[in-house]
Amino acid sequence: MAGDVARRPIGQDGRVRTVEEHQAVVNALLPASPEEQVPLAAAHGRVLARDVVARVPLPGFDNSAMDGYAARWSEVGGAAGAPVRLPVAEDIPAGRTDVVPLEAGTVHRIMTGAPLPPGADVVVPVELTDGGTDVVELRDSPPAGSHLRRAGEDIAAGTVALAAGRPLGAAQLGLAAAVGVTELPVRRRPRVLVLSTGSELVAPGEELQPGQIYESNSALLAAAVDEAGGIPRRLHFVPDDVDQFLATVRAELATADLLITSGGVSAGAYEVVKDAFRTLGTVEFGKVAMQPGGPQGAGTVDGVPVVTLPGNPVSAFVSFEVFVRPALRRALGHASPDRLRVPARLAGSLRSPAGRRQFLRGRYESGVVSQVGGPGSHLVAHLARANCLVVVPEDVTELPAGAEVDVVLIEGALQ
Ligand code: AMP
Ligand code: MG
Repeated sequence: MAGDVARRPIGQDGRVRTVEEHQAVVNALLPASPEEQVPLAAAHGRVLARDVVARVPLPGFDNSAMDGYAARWSEVGGAAGAPVRLPVAEDIPAGRTDVVPLEAGTVHRIMTGAPLPPGADVVVPVELTDGGTDVVELRDSPPAGSHLRRAGEDIAAGTVALAAGRPLGAAQLGLAAAVGVTELPVRRRPRVLVLSTGSELVAPGEELQPGQIYESNSALLAAAVDEAGGIPRRLHFVPDDVDQFLATVRAELATADLLITSGGVSAGAYEVVKDAFRTLGTVEFGKVAMQPGGPQGAGTVDGVPVVTLPGNPVSAFVSFEVFVRPALRRALGHASPDRLRVPARLAGSLRSPAGRRQFLRGRYESGVVSQVGGPGSHLVAHLARANCLVVVPEDVTELPAGAEVDVVLIEGALQ
C-alpha cells in the first residue's frame, strides 16, 4: 500500500496529501537498518535487533534479602515475647562460594546477597537480635519465608530478558549485564545528512547584516536526528542557488542513508530545493494537510532517500516529528516508533483551520495542556518552552476550554 502511495504525486492533481499518506511515503523510503553487534558500553540509546535470552536465572541462587541470621523458622518462629538464644555456626558474607548446610539448633550470620544455606527458611534481620557472633539472641522473628530471595523469581534462565525493538536505557543495560551479556545485537544507526538552504542565513557567531538571520535549523534537525537514533552530519548551509545546492548534495550523498533538507520548498520564487530536485524527477513536492509543515517533498536522489522539510523552524521541527522521526525509528526496528500520545484537557479555548491537522505547541502537566504561543511557525522560542504538540484534527475548527484533545509528548529521547 505504501508503494502505491509513493508513486502518487503530491498536489499534482490538485489533491493535498493526508498526514498518514505522507507518513507512508517517508516510511517506504527507509529500509530496515542492518544488524550489528556492539559492546554493552556502546549500546546505550540503541534499539535491540533480536531478543536476548537470559543464560542465568535472576537471582542466580537463593539468597538473603537482609543482613541478619539464616534460621529454621520452626526453631525461632515462636520467639515473640520469649527471646531465643542459638549458637552462630557460620558467617556468610556476600561472595562466599562454599555451601554449608544449616544444622538443626544453629543459625548462620548472613549478609544481604549471600547464599542461603540449605535448611534455612527464614532470615531474621539483625535489627531483631543482639548482633551476636558466637551466640545470638533473637528477640523476634518475621513470618516463615521472610527476607529470602528465591532463585529465578525475577527471571528464569532460558527466557527472554530483553525483547527485540526495545530501546536500551539504563535499566535494560543493567539487566543485560546482570544476565552476563557482553555484546548486544542492535540495528546500525542510519547516517543522516542535514542541509539547510537560504540566502538570508548566517552561521551563529558571525556578524548579522540587515535582513540576515542565524541559521538554526541544522542545529535543531541534527539534534532531532541524534535523538531519533540516527547519526547526523550537518553540511554547511547553502544559499538559494541551484548549482551550489546540487553540488553540495552530490558531493556528500554517497555516504548517507538519508538526506534531510530545510527550506526552499514553498510556493514562492527562489525555492532552491524544489527547483533543483524537480528537474531530476525523483522527488515529489506538494502539500500535506497539516499546519505547520504544509509544504513537503520526498523521494530519492541518486538512489538515496531524501526528505525536504520547510524552512520555518517550527515547521521543520514538527515535520521531522511527524514524518522523519517515526520512519527512522521504524528503520531501527523500534517496537514503538511513535511518540507517546495522551489525552488532555485544554486550559483555554483554541481555533484551528478547517481541513488541516494542526500541531500546536503546548505544555502538558497532570492531564491539562496550555497552549504555548500562537500557531506561527516562526515562534522558535515558544517551541523551546513546549513539552508537547497539541493535535487538532482536520475537521475541528474551534475547541472550548476544558475540551479533550490528544497531545504528543515531545520530551524524552528514548521513549
Ligand atoms: P523557506 O521555507 O525557505 O521559505 O523559509 C521559511 C522561513 O524560515 C523564512 O523566514 C526563512 O528565513 C526561515 N528559515 C529557513 N531556513 C532556516 C534555517 N536554516 N534557520 C533558520 N531559519 C530558517
Ligand atoms: Mg528559503
